[in-house]
Amino acid sequence: MNAFTAPHFQNDKAARKFIEKIRWPDEIVCPHCGTVGSYYATKKEGRYRCAEKLCRKDFTVTTGTVMESSHVPLHKWLMGFYLMASSKKGISAHQLHRSLGVTYKTAWFMAHRIREAMRAGGITPMGGEGKIVEADETYYGKIEDRKPSPQRKGRPFTKSGKVGVGGKRAIVALVERGGRVRTFHVGVADKVTVSKIVMDNVARETRLHTDESRLYTGSDAYFATHETVKHSAKEYVRGDVHTNSAEGYFSIFKRGMRGVYQHCREKHLHRYLAEYDFRYNHRIALGCDDGERAALAVKGAEGKRLTYRQPDISGL
Ligand SMILES: [Zn+2]
Repeated sequence: MNAFTAPHFQNDKAARKFIEKIRWPDEIVCPHCGTVGSYYATKKEGRYRCAEKLCRKDFTVTTGTVMESSHVPLHKWLMGFYLMASSKKGISAHQLHRSLGVTYKTAWFMAHRIREAMRAGGITPMGGEGKIVEADETYYGKIEDRKPSPQRKGRPFTKSGKVGVGGKRAIVALVERGGRVRTFHVGVADKVTVSKIVMDNVARETRLHTDESRLYTGSDAYFATHETVKHSAKEYVRGDVHTNSAEGYFSIFKRGMRGVYQHCREKHLHRYLAEYDFRYNHRIALGCDDGERAALAVKGAEGKRLTYRQPDISGL
């Protein structure tokens, strides 16, 4: 554990300073009213009071973040961020519990809060002129509630044209070639749902690459080009047309989920996807090392106060 000899992984005070530098690289900003550089230090270290007349509220570096009102020392939070950002396939709550010396329950809720910090905000379109976006879908884990929902419209298509895929959870991935991924857990991967995701997230000037699935028919009218490979005929690459990036992403995701997380409630699946997306989008090949990736996750903690209503999490 050589990576953890730095003071910010050893004591709460150094960790607080470290997080302050990440959150406020230039000036301290009041998280309540957004006033920049106008505050008093209070007697309690790390606690500030806004000097803005109409605000005057107290705050710390964790106010309005996923770490707010947690009793876990900040160096343990930093270590948690680092471990989750640097473990390619993820890290179990059991492992976090042992590595951080917190209870299993606390580790579990820390992990979910860190996932929330990793969740990408905003949606700028993917792709663009001369760029390629691959779209693909996969199925992972059993659907827990099989009651048909009243909103369910149309029949779900699979590659073989059958309805449904053995009651499994559907995931759609968009990957910009050599760039970022964006994934979606959908109730059902039918043409309406998938088309909407693709059109909402990908710029029209993009070259769209998919397999021959019926989910994507009609896309050629919308995008610069829509090129397909015919997986059913064992065609995986034709020139630069393929969906290997999307399949590579799915393979990391599935290996991690099977090996590390094992049981994942369906309602949490989107959080795990956010975690894998985050690491993929800040991978080494894109010039991001473990430390930078962890710092980006800490930065992402801002404005994402995760509040659970369940009473069993009050211990965190
Ligand atoms: Zn303020």
